[in-house]
Formats: sequence, C-alpha cells, structure tokens
Amino acid sequence: MVPNVTGFSATILTLYPEMFPGPLGTSLSGDALQKGIWSFEARNIRDHGIGRHKAVDDTPAGGGCGMVLRCDVLAEAIDAAIPENDTRPRLLLSPRGKPLTQKRVRELVQGPGVVLVCGRFEGVDERVIEGRNLEEVSIGDYILSGGELGAMVLLDACVRLLPGVMGKLESGSEESFENNRLEYPQYTRPRNWEERDIPDVLLSGNHAAIKAWREEKSDKLTAQRRPDLMSKPRS
Ligand code: SAH
Repeated sequence: MVPNVTGFSATILTLYPEMFPGPLGTSLSGDALQKGIWSFEARNIRDHGIGRHKAVDDTPAGGGCGMVLRCDVLAEAIDAAIPENDTRPRLLLSPRGKPLTQKRVRELVQGPGVVLVCGRFEGVDERVIEGRNLEEVSIGDYILSGGELGAMVLLDACVRLLPGVMGKLESGSEESFENNRLEYPQYTRPRNWEERDIPDVLLSGNHAAIKAWREEKSDKLTAQRRPDLMSKPRS
C-alpha cells in the first residue's frame, strides 16, 4: 500500500514485510486503514541485500555472537524508500532507545507520519543510526527478536488517536498516562456480581462526587503501582 498524502503515513523497513498490517488490519486500526485515515508501506530491506544471496548482515566487528545488520544495506533501503524532502521522524525500534510514552505518541500523531526501521539479529551497525539520523525508540525494558512487533505497538498507539478513529466521547483524554496517573477502576452491569457491588457513589448520579472518587482511586493506584508517576503533577 502506498502512503496517502493526507492521512498519517507509515513507511516500515523490515526483513519481514509480510508481517504487516498483521493485527493492525483488524478492529479500530483496520477500519481506519480501510477508510484511508492512515496508510502504510512495508519495504523489504533484503531487496537491497548484497550478492546472489542478498546478504543483509555480517559478523560483529570485534567478535561476539550473532550477526549485525549492515549499514550500507540499510542505508540504501532507507534512501530508496524515503524521498529527500520527507519530514517524517525516522525511528529505529531499539531496546536502547528512549522509552515510548503517551506524550511522544501524541506528538507523533500531530505530524505527517513515521518512518519505522525494524532491527533484527544483534542489532544494526551504529554508523547507519548516525548517518541516517535514526532516533532510537524502545517499547519497554525487555528484548524482542525483532523490531516489527515494536513498530506495531507504536503504530497502534498512534492510529487510535487519529481524528475519526475513536468516537469524540472516547478521545482518550482520561486514560492511564494522559494525566500522569493510572486510570481509576471501571465497572459495568451487573450491579452485584459474586457478592461484589459496584461502589454506590458511581450509581449516585452526583457527578462531583464521582469525579472526586475517581481522582482519589487513581492517585492511590498510581502511588502503589507507579510511584515514579506520582512525582509529576496531575495534569
Ligand atoms: N543486541 C541488542 C538487541 C537486539 S534485539 C541489544 O542488546 O540492545 C533485535 C531487534 O529487535 C533490535 O534491533 C530492535 O529493532 C528490536 N527490539 C528488541 N527489543 C526491543 C524493544 N524493547 N523495543 C524496541 N525494539 C526492540
């Protein structure tokens, strides 16, 4: 699929283009893809591989286990996929990157889209990170076998915030992380289940009391589970 000019467009460089859109082709993001609210193009890095075997990797300089994605191959793939005047941020999925946050996701959806480079093996030659201005982004403190699932996580987080994807009412402004707090507990019918009741206040119709209850629960949960967030003001 070719990036469209109006919507949010993602160019993904990967050794496994067939993984896309994968889960992003279903549900909210799938509908949005159909509607052209976002688009993607998955480019195979191997098309720029070297020799008869289309080699893309080689052994690490200095020794050690595994293989490293070659800088010349990856740079050629990037140059072929991205026009010179392309203003989209170029992100390399990498466990060494700055952890992805809701704040960064909100920034990304303000722009025209993203270029996502998916690493494999032991990672990529450092020189292409420098030479092609790649910003390393991590989706968490654990190691995946490749950047593709990370790219999908990032795209899913972006796409749901694009105008027209979620209803206006669910703009996501009350969700976890949006105000430096985790979300309050949610309930729905039935009112009584296995001797557990929905808290009375939520059924009281008193909006001020409900708001106060939710803020209190949200502060308490955040203090217990994510004390690091508590040092930031509720926004
Ligand atoms: N040797 C590397 C890990 C390589 S994992 C290191 O120790 O830093 C292979 C590829 O998977 C990486 O190049 C990256 O693109 C992707 N990847 C692994 N973990 C990730 C994470 N937490 N966030 C984003 N991408 C990740």
